[in-house]
Amino acid sequence: MLVLLDRDGVLNEDRSDFVKTPEELVFIPGALEAIASLNSHGHKVAVVTNQSCIGRGIITPDTLSNIHEKLFSALAQVGGRVDQLFFAPDAPWKATENRKPGAGMFFSAMQMFRETPQNTVLIGDSKTDLQAAAKAKCHRILVQTGKGRKTQKQGIDPDLLPVSIAKDLSQAVDYILEGRFS
Ligand SMILES: [Mg+2]
Repeated sequence: MLVLLDRDGVLNEDRSDFVKTPEELVFIPGALEAIASLNSHGHKVAVVTNQSCIGRGIITPDTLSNIHEKLFSALAQVGGRVDQLFFAPDAPWKATENRKPGAGMFFSAMQMFRETPQNTVLIGDSKTDLQAAAKAKCHRILVQTGKGRKTQKQGIDPDLLPVSIAKDLSQAVDYILEGRFS
């Protein structure tokens, strides 16, 4: 399958003031190992992340690259990798279809890996992740890390269902490996 991962709140702790430095990228326990597990089972992994901190002028693209270098090297240490990382730098007031809830990054990823929506699953913690995935018609797993519990508590719109709920990325990956998701 093609597994599309949101970043903040899924791989690393969400921060309301944005991850602005590599030091502020704090991994959620088990997340890196879960990605390595997807890799070793032959699944393709891509990150699809909104990074409006660029469009807002809070950090530069170079800083974002440095933050992602930390992710890639930490992953390498556990034998994992992401096959591609997509980010939407758009500020909310100048959003393109790439910024979630737009599905632009999802379509780019499916095109790049030549995967169908039926063979693609999103793992995210926000309503906008679910909305983008629903637009792209791919499977959806909500994790309870990051904003996930809040998203679940607010109630999931019927048009976004079905959504599988997992404790964290580790459990979401178990669902994928066992084929236990809607
Ligand atoms: Mg998130």
